[in-house]
Amino acid sequence: MTEQAQNLLPCPFCGSNRVAVHFKRAARKEGYQAMCLNCKVGQTHVMHSTVERSAAAWNARAPVTAADGCSLSQLFVRPANHQVPA
Ligand SMILES: [Zn+2]
Repeated sequence: MTEQAQNLLPCPFCGSNRVAVHFKRAARKEGYQAMCLNCKVGQTHVMHSTVERSAAAWNARAPVTAADGCSLSQLFVRPANHQVPA
């Protein structure tokens, strides 16, 4: 089941407006998860009890903008054992 939740912000990664909330059922739990239908990024570990809660969690993610002084590449965390070439 897919619910076109109201007021979902565009995807913070690709900017697409094709964001939807799905109802997902797994072995031990079920719930709603928001996901970008374009780049497939979405809520994977947390399931929300309602469409509204899922949408609120999606919208709480700050969009990636130049004004943040943060580029997309900075969102990737470098592993602790990563060696930077001298
Ligand atoms: Zn996306």
